[in-house]
Amino acid sequence: MSDNFDYDLVVIGGGSGGVRAARWSAKLGAKVALVEKSRLGGTCVIRGCVPKKFMVYASEFAHEAAVMKDYGWDVQVGEFDWAGFKSKRDAEIERLSGLYQNMLSGAGVELFEGVGCLDGDHTVLIKGKEITAKHILIAVGSRPFIPNFLGVEHVLTSNQFFNLKKRPQKVLVAGGGYIAVEFAGILQGLGSDVSIVIRREHILRGFDQDVREFLQEQMSQKQINFVTEKTITSIVKEDKKFVVHFSDESEQTYDAVLMAQGRVPAVEELQLDKVGVKHNQGKIEINTKFQSSIPSIYAVGDCANDFNLTPVALNEGMILAENLFNKQDMVMSYENIPTAVFSQPPVGTVGLGEQEAKDRGHSVDIYMSSFNPLKFALSSHKEKCLMKIIVDCKSQKVLGVHIVGKDAGEMIQGIGVAVKAQLTKAQFDQCVGVHPTSAEELVTMREKLR
Ligand code: NDP
Repeated sequence: MSDNFDYDLVVIGGGSGGVRAARWSAKLGAKVALVEKSRLGGTCVIRGCVPKKFMVYASEFAHEAAVMKDYGWDVQVGEFDWAGFKSKRDAEIERLSGLYQNMLSGAGVELFEGVGCLDGDHTVLIKGKEITAKHILIAVGSRPFIPNFLGVEHVLTSNQFFNLKKRPQKVLVAGGGYIAVEFAGILQGLGSDVSIVIRREHILRGFDQDVREFLQEQMSQKQINFVTEKTITSIVKEDKKFVVHFSDESEQTYDAVLMAQGRVPAVEELQLDKVGVKHNQGKIEINTKFQSSIPSIYAVGDCANDFNLTPVALNEGMILAENLFNKQDMVMSYENIPTAVFSQPPVGTVGLGEQEAKDRGHSVDIYMSSFNPLKFALSSHKEKCLMKIIVDCKSQKVLGVHIVGKDAGEMIQGIGVAVKAQLTKAQFDQCVGVHPTSAEELVTMREKLR
């Protein structure tokens, strides 16, 4: 241990980034403590990616049952046992959180339960107890953003959604980002009547325009209703229902309103200003080494970066540990991060969208194909697939790949390696297709669309 501090590293926040940094640092020989105010695992494990994915799986079976019938199975889908499923899901989350605890203890990380806040450049305060460290890492993550309008106290966020004891029948989802489209798909699959309200024409701003339009159309075909170019102005509770007033002065009544309009850093309890850690509306300002304006204080994950993705926080935590305790000089690359939206159908994407590529000065060749996957050839249940490849005209390097369709999230991981390796379209084409799959389209698209 260094310079008379209690620890080499104190981590505030036991989510993806914090746990990875703590464990990796301890493995490298550092004396590490981690402070967490609730369960270990953070948003991803407790109230995000993992429980959400279980719910996506649960809801997909409804569509599968329709296809099964067309394949000759005599199936009847009954009611979904929300309470039974919830208790199984929650037990698994509890198990995973316990695993995190065991992993940390096994690595020799000392755990403190409670709210941690900064009390100096090298000091963290937990329940009135001071601990000191050579380095402090803030990895407190983010929380849902709540806008300000009359009756906003009636909305649910993704956090509360996971605690619902029964499925709401008629639901309005506000927002058109990852969480909104994923939760809309879940609720629709489980039997709810779902509308999405967005302030623009299309969902998923920032994604390739063809992807946005295609997904919106596919979701509409699954009876998800899009209320576009409107915002909520107020919500009034009437008995157990909620009357939502929109910006065009129309109104509709729902059983629940789910707010999914982005996330903000969860830094309120940290006392950033007291210690002088610079931030922009809570987002901690860091350099390429994750170092804040106070050199001994670092930050990773949602409270500091622009990505809000678990694997990004994991990588950041690992790189920080290597740099601090293994004499490395690593820098995180934020280019070509593959990502998936678990909408129904899902989206897998890596690299630049068409407009983004043009905005960055590329002349582009566009390859695009939409088709009915073989699985649905025998079925009246249709769910189309879209594949789009964006290629730099001059270098012929593949700048971006975008997939909407079954298993897109699984496909994009492998394609991410190819795009990260800056392979050319010709190298994609040299790869022999796997037949019969949807993915083979990615190496057989020869005709430029434009
Ligand atoms: P996003 O940032 O993805 O989307 C926010 C949505 O809310 C946008 O459609 C935005 O509209 C809309 N919005 C924001 N402010 C307002 C406003 N004042 N009035 C009306 N609409 C508004 O946020 P999410 O909450 O969906 O997700 C947060 C982050 O969590 C994501 O960015 C993602 O990084 C991460 N995440 C990742 C997942 C995954 O990897 N599968 C799953 C879930 C979350 P507009 O486009 O017009 O700005």
